[in-house]
Amino acid sequence: MNAQRLDFQTTKTAARSSGFPAGDQPALGKRANLRPSNNNSNIRYDTRRLQSAAIKARMLSEHRSRLCGCVPVPKRGAVQIHIDTASGTCRYVSLYHCASATACPVCAATVRARRAQEIIYAGKRMIQEGFTYVSATLTAAHGPCTKLHEFIKQFNDAARKMKSGRAWQAFAGRWAVRYSIRTVDTTDDAPGTDPAARSGWHYHFHIIFFLEKHHLTENEAQKMESELADMWINALGRVGLSASRANGVAVDLPHLSVGVSGADAIKPLAQYVAKNVAWEMTGQDTKIGRMDRRISIWGMQRLALTSHPELLPRLDEYIRAMRGIAWMTWTQGLKHFVGLDELSDAELLEGAVATPIYTLTQADLTAVARQAGQRKLLEAAEAGGLEGIRAALAAAHAGHDILIGEPWLPPA
Ligand SMILES: [Zn+2]
Repeated sequence: MNAQRLDFQTTKTAARSSGFPAGDQPALGKRANLRPSNNNSNIRYDTRRLQSAAIKARMLSEHRSRLCGCVPVPKRGAVQIHIDTASGTCRYVSLYHCASATACPVCAATVRARRAQEIIYAGKRMIQEGFTYVSATLTAAHGPCTKLHEFIKQFNDAARKMKSGRAWQAFAGRWAVRYSIRTVDTTDDAPGTDPAARSGWHYHFHIIFFLEKHHLTENEAQKMESELADMWINALGRVGLSASRANGVAVDLPHLSVGVSGADAIKPLAQYVAKNVAWEMTGQDTKIGRMDRRISIWGMQRLALTSHPELLPRLDEYIRAMRGIAWMTWTQGLKHFVGLDELSDAELLEGAVATPIYTLTQADLTAVARQAGQRKLLEAAEAGGLEGIRAALAAAHAGHDILIGEPWLPPA
């Protein structure tokens, strides 16, 4: 089967070649089909800007997100703005992106949204092939004193032990588990939680199991859950962790109802397991007043870098603990089976080369990054072409907001 490329999947060679004639830059007029200023995206760039500043001030450990969106990719020449003339959308070419889906708010949003699209694509293909699916969550007991780094090591070790045992082989055979996709997720106590109610880091797995089998009934799903719980609790015991039968494992059936097929139901599930930051950050996460008792990593990151600096050591513990941890894994062979290219998170971020309209200097990049204006500059390019870029950069160099032209203020 020929590997399928989704819209965002560009060939490695296409992304790396840049065969445009030097100095041949089209002048573009005003464009009618503007995208509205993307406030979520601007806040993510702003959060990255603040994270970079905290790293420089040694309040956070060194992390590659420090230079994300601020410098050219090494050995690839200057950063350029390219336009896709068909859609009128602009993008950066040769701008370094750190590709961290666990610690960079900018890259995580893009990588996770694209991974969710891959899951949707794979899910639909699997359903066409006659497979069904269930989702599962694996958790372990934790407390306010849980050290995240050690917990993750034990938790992942338990998962490895479980899957290498004979009981797992029998389980997979009984339920016709052929493939799975697994992501990790971490939440923490929201600031202000009553100390007596704190439960500390909550690191856990979300899994989609593809079964070569009819849709499970409620009873079957409960039986599967109970068998999985037996194996999981046993494996946790071997690494010094534990879970209750009630909380350790949950197996959920697809939310099928009249008019909702498995192919439709996988869309919200895919977005859930890949934790599409786009919606993760739009809710009440960043508004302290209405916050839940638990907080997502992205909500915590924003708070730590703005109104709640006392959370910085907590954010630092998280970023250090996640180093080298695979946040998403597909069973070997699944991508090939559904005909998807295997792309790393970094490759997923490489934009296709389009028509170059502007080459940025490092001074331009620095002035833009100082106000977290990477997204705004593209908006200015889409709205006003070359003129728009020049006006935006003049504003940025003067310390003025790229789009408004008045002194820049960080987003509230
Ligand atoms: Zn990044």
